[in-house]
Amino acid sequence: MTTHTEPLDSVLEAVGETPLVRLQASPDEVPVFAKLESFNPGASIKDRLGEYMLRRMLERGDVDPGGTVIEPTAGNTGIGMAMAATQLDLAVTFVVPEKFSVEKQVLMRALGAEVVNTPTEEGMKRAIEHAGELAGETDNATVPQQFSNRLNAEAHEQTTGPEIREALDGAVGALVAGCGTAGTLMGTARHLREHVPALHVVAVEPEGSLLARTEGQSVEQSEYTIEGIGTTNLATNKLYDPELVDEVRQVSDRTAHAEMQRLASEEGQLVASSAAAASVAAQDVAERIRDGELDVAHERVVTIFPDSSERYLSKGVYGTFEEWAGEDDG
Ligand code: PMP
Repeated sequence: MTTHTEPLDSVLEAVGETPLVRLQASPDEVPVFAKLESFNPGASIKDRLGEYMLRRMLERGDVDPGGTVIEPTAGNTGIGMAMAATQLDLAVTFVVPEKFSVEKQVLMRALGAEVVNTPTEEGMKRAIEHAGELAGETDNATVPQQFSNRLNAEAHEQTTGPEIREALDGAVGALVAGCGTAGTLMGTARHLREHVPALHVVAVEPEGSLLARTEGQSVEQSEYTIEGIGTTNLATNKLYDPELVDEVRQVSDRTAHAEMQRLASEEGQLVASSAAAASVAAQDVAERIRDGELDVAHERVVTIFPDSSERYLSKGVYGTFEEWAGEDDG
């Protein structure tokens, strides 16, 4: 782990040790702290995964130096893995559903990756299948598969969790984070629970996503614009363990969009839609703790802001809701 105070030899050494910043809109009595993952060199939380997974996979012999990593990814994972691959003598190919932002795909290509698109309407499920097909046709290739690989959650159990615990001297009452693969929430929660067994854990997803069904909420699937979290197929999310989660909180596109703009204009936080959704849910948890509706061991909430809004400017994040989400979404 780096302290960022000494000269470094490679961008990989600059991964992690991101700042924890208080949300100014959170109640004074129950502050929310957000971990700003855009401070990583590839500007998202997935740099942790890229470095951790590829190093471990090389150590274990899942792939040999000079080999190829093929991964279905919505984008940030691709950037994190492609960056790590440049330093670890690996080639990378990513399978990306078309709907994801062009900025991410441009960055993956700049880092030397090959990008293969699959149709948006076939979702991540098709991207995952196609990655497997490509790996079958390529020598010395492996598919890390962030949706089912335990190394994904382990990266956060080893880095994100300890960093939060150290920064707050272990005094964390609730952890609130968005779930895509759920690696972030599962790994971080696992580490923090060892120190705070009563930690209240909240998974955040967009309205229209289906994780809430794991706790008996009768939610329906629908399209959403919030990027990087949520699922249309529960079977895909192999890392998600409902036993580790106390509640699932859904946030609408409209609420996330308003919060994304508020975070920028009031708090100087240039974060994207999944961070905005987490922010809304974390503030809600903090208010419930303040109002005595939720009992926790420490009156402090931690959330995670996975990446920056700059990565989505082409999607109109700072335009009107309709410019960002399209007329049909709400
Ligand atoms: N937000 C963004 C922008 C992401 O790219 C991701 C990763 N899909 C997440 C949140 C969720 O992280 P995880 O996959 O660890 O649940």
